[in-house]
Amino acid sequence: MTKRVVLIGHPVAHSLSGAMHQAAFDALGIDARYELWDRPPIGLAEAIETLRSDEFLGANVTIPHKERVVPMVDRLTEEAQATGAVNTITKDGRRLVGHNTDVPGFKVALDRLVGRQKMPRQAVVLGAGGGARAVVYGLITAGFQRVVVFNRHLHRAEALVRHFARSAAHMELRAMPWHESIIEAELAKTKVLVNATSVGLGDEDESPIPGELIPPDLLVLDLIYSRTKLLRDAEAAGCTVMDGELMLLHQGAAAFSLWTGREAPLEIMAAALREARSAGLRSAEGEPAGTVATDAGAGSGSSEGGGAAGGDGVAGGKAPDR
Ligand code: NDP
Repeated sequence: MTKRVVLIGHPVAHSLSGAMHQAAFDALGIDARYELWDRPPIGLAEAIETLRSDEFLGANVTIPHKERVVPMVDRLTEEAQATGAVNTITKDGRRLVGHNTDVPGFKVALDRLVGRQKMPRQAVVLGAGGGARAVVYGLITAGFQRVVVFNRHLHRAEALVRHFARSAAHMELRAMPWHESIIEAELAKTKVLVNATSVGLGDEDESPIPGELIPPDLLVLDLIYSRTKLLRDAEAAGCTVMDGELMLLHQGAAAFSLWTGREAPLEIMAAALREARSAGLRSAEGEPAGTVATDAGAGSGSSEGGGAAGGDGVAGGKAPDR
């Protein structure tokens, strides 16, 4: 029987995950099909119950359901529990287990971005949604001592900080209001900047912050899977930058191994991602893809050279577009 794995989100039509996972199943001769299930919040519980049937290996969960799905599974892994967000579901018989593979995906990207330098201890995070939760937990467990979270709606950043109160007890985790002067002051004191907002994902070529606020020598990671205005501004300021491709690849690879018990074919998955992107898909997980990117080479600071699977995946300050 052909096994099924589904991506549950709303919307999901533009997801890159389908191309990546189907290529991996096919390459390893695994008789499985990856399907996109567009389910609004009201249809989520029923979709999750359906997964208990034998034909399903598991699922991915994406925007806007990552937090809502938490009480619908039978067990959570440590990372899912700690972040309060689930992006991958596996089966234990009929029981459903919730995982968060965005956390290991982020950590691979962070390690690659930092390279041979000593791991920094201070970071600024823009955004407080499901992606930001994985980022903040990744920073806490990587030994960061000061992390400041800015969010358009401050209460959401405050809720995130409260959520991590226990795991961040040994360090300083703060929510701050979204004012340019405060962001500028914090950026001047930090080493790492992570964009976990969805600003830059759509057609508008927007950045969450003005380029003038960005000091040189920052390490800048944008979770969005394209060469965003933020990354271009940061590179022009002399920063080292990376987009969300590597994180996307490695959260997918971790999910693949959980479903199949097999090592993920990273090179094949990376190639499938590049091909899907050159065909016009640019959203990380299933959000509206916006304008079609027609030139694969113009999109990302990190995707060339097998950025994900083999190359360093990092664009140094003032590096030419690759
Ligand atoms: P959520 O919907 O949970 O959160 C969206 C975030 O963006 C919130 O912090 C929201 O702020 C902020 N935001 C949206 N619009 C604006 C705006 N106009 N100005 C300022 N802030 C804004 O999404 P996720 O956290 O799941 O995803 C966020 C981004 O990260 C997406 O682009 C997604 O593609 C990417 N991502 C990439 C991954 C990867 O593997 N590369 C993995 C996970 C996410 P507010 O709360 O105030 O509305």
